[in-house]
Amino acid sequence: MFTEYDNNNIFAKILRAELPCIKVYEDEYTLAFMDIMPQMAGHTLVIPKESAVTIYDLSDEAAMACMRTVKLIGSAVEKAVGFGGSTVFQHNGVKAGQTVPHFHFHVLPGSILDASSIKGHALELANPEELKMMAAKIISCIEDRQP
Ligand code: 5GP
Repeated sequence: MFTEYDNNNIFAKILRAELPCIKVYEDEYTLAFMDIMPQMAGHTLVIPKESAVTIYDLSDEAAMACMRTVKLIGSAVEKAVGFGGSTVFQHNGVKAGQTVPHFHFHVLPGSILDASSIKGHALELANPEELKMMAAKIISCIEDRQP
């Protein structure tokens, strides 16, 4: 089901550099940056540059590009945090809990089923300096993309 895209959503503004983000990775098709209200340290978002709300609106090419970036960033996030596991998830539509209407993957170095280590969704702003330090660690753990 195609969902109408709002060009003024927060992530569209980040993509146009009208709003800042703490970037960890960018290529021709995707951007990855720190979530400003992380559910745990290292919570990173991967978004396509293509304008799409849900996974069902995304072109196959953009979906593939996102998946490649998730693989790259997910393993870097695990290494940066020193946790041998991670969770990747995404919401499709308001009814499913999506709060920003531009498609994105959440990448978290931990389990969302572990109530003791996970904070509420989009609940608490993190300290920007701590986010920048975590971003630097993640960047240092990104491996060269394999062909
Ligand atoms: P959703 O609820 O759509 O699955 O997730 C949206 C995510 O975007 C939430 O985890 C929320 O913390 C994050 N978020 C909301 N506004 C901003 C923002 O302005 N910048 C960044 N970096 N993340 C944001």
